[in-house]
Amino acid sequence: MHKLQSYLANQWQQGTGEGSLLVNPTTEERLASASTEGLDLAESVAFARETGGPGIRAMSFADRAQALQTIASAIHEHREALIELGIANAGNTRGDAKFDIDGATATLTAYASFAKDLPDRPFIPDGEGLQLGRSPRFSGQHIWATRLGVAVHINAFNFPAWGMVEKFACALLAGMPVLEKPGTPTAMVAEEVAKIVVSSGALPEGAFSFLCGSAGDLLDHLAGQDVVAFTGSSETASLLRSHEAFVHRGTRLNVEADSLNATIIGPDLENDSDGFDAFLSDTAREITQKAGQKCTGTRRILVPESMMDEVTEALSAALEAVPVGNPATQGIRMGPLTSASQRDEVKEGILNLATAAQITTGGTDSPEEKGFFISPTLLKAKDAQDDVFHSKEVFGPVSSLLSYSGDIAEAAHLVARGEGSLVSSLYSDDRNFTTGLALALAPWSGRIYLGSSRVAAHGTGPGLVLPSMIHGGPGRAGGGEELGGLRGLQFYMQRCAMQGFKSTIEGSFGQI
Ligand code: NAP
Repeated sequence: MHKLQSYLANQWQQGTGEGSLLVNPTTEERLASASTEGLDLAESVAFARETGGPGIRAMSFADRAQALQTIASAIHEHREALIELGIANAGNTRGDAKFDIDGATATLTAYASFAKDLPDRPFIPDGEGLQLGRSPRFSGQHIWATRLGVAVHINAFNFPAWGMVEKFACALLAGMPVLEKPGTPTAMVAEEVAKIVVSSGALPEGAFSFLCGSAGDLLDHLAGQDVVAFTGSSETASLLRSHEAFVHRGTRLNVEADSLNATIIGPDLENDSDGFDAFLSDTAREITQKAGQKCTGTRRILVPESMMDEVTEALSAALEAVPVGNPATQGIRMGPLTSASQRDEVKEGILNLATAAQITTGGTDSPEEKGFFISPTLLKAKDAQDDVFHSKEVFGPVSSLLSYSGDIAEAAHLVARGEGSLVSSLYSDDRNFTTGLALALAPWSGRIYLGSSRVAAHGTGPGLVLPSMIHGGPGRAGGGEELGGLRGLQFYMQRCAMQGFKSTIEGSFGQI
């Protein structure tokens, strides 16, 4: 069986022992294994920090941007092979796999272009200079300086290409060497992307490392100039937060965790409007794309009481129209969940929700004999206030309809019960409702998608993470922030206040 490799200290290496098994979630065929046992992670981290760091920092922002563009082109050249791997290893439909691969190349290209606004200097001035004393002689200027450690990226299984690339695009452009650790169940796709990055020759020695399999003692070797950007479940996030690297040694941590994203229909929305159609197609897509294994997936749907019957009927019909099956077959629009444990957790989640809801379509019966399949499942809550809808993410093609009166405060209260989301979306053609609800939701959401008839033909839907806009959310969603154009570089840099003689401050550190 194929043994996946790690790229550490400038060499492809293989762990010992059996490691974790990777399977095709459609056929349950064993595909590969991944082990990190016996790999010297202390040496790997030191090599990245001491060899990769100076190498990447010696490049200008423009040179790093060029490297990102070279990697984007190399990934695009291997697009077909990567899509095939996504179908086999992640259970992706062709559309799901393209979403992952093209999302990766688009993000790299975007970051290569954002760099045109960066200076030809090794730091970034932040804002304007300030007079600090009574006379203008003594002044100050904030700057962003690149951190001197290694950027460790721990990713979830659901976006093996895009998830890895969106993190390393920001880190490398900021000038930090990266060590990528993908989610193991779909690491075949990630390993192939890593091979493409390495063989592109775009990066200096040590600037890119890749660890395939469990994290082992990786965090034990991190210190105050290092950073960890984590994406995954809140359970793993809690474990990481208590690690001594963060508690005692000052390693910086960014967490992107799970989220009970809500979508809300405004009471004004006519059922024959373009806005209503957009709500239906966006929501059906957010439930079924990647079999619902998206951090931005819609988990709660708030519907005015008066519209509940028609929304239940229309959304159930839209979900039933999605062909589920072998993702390699043309016409199939939803494949299996990625692993047996993932399928079992989702089944358990549906049963838990069903204690307080009626299943309107789908359920726990598998639509296929083999593979980790679950049908798109919609539930209607008996009582929207019940804790069960607001306390546990079911990471699959599952969502619950919750009835509300149409009142802004009530909708905001229900959304807030989820304790922080990556994205909230609302669909309304009433500007007062939209503005009032959006402002009420803002403290609880990293991003708010304002759907309406006006943008029905133009909007991306709530599930598309754009490199120019921030990704992350408060509370349960982890409290982190990624992307957002050049804001995404700040996590990898130290903001420093320079204070001194005006002409030195302005001449050496000020905006040019
Ligand atoms: P997970 O089980 O928490 O794993 C996430 C990553 O953490 C994997 O790479 C995993 O490695 C690693 N890991 C596990 N235990 C660790 C430890 N003790 N030390 C260091 N690393 C450790 O999550 P998942 O099942 O892969 O992904 C699904 C979850 O991710 C969902 O809850 C979803 O909402 C969330 N997610 C959030 C976002 C976002 O942007 N907010 C995006 C995507 C997914 P192994 O795979 O080797 O165990």
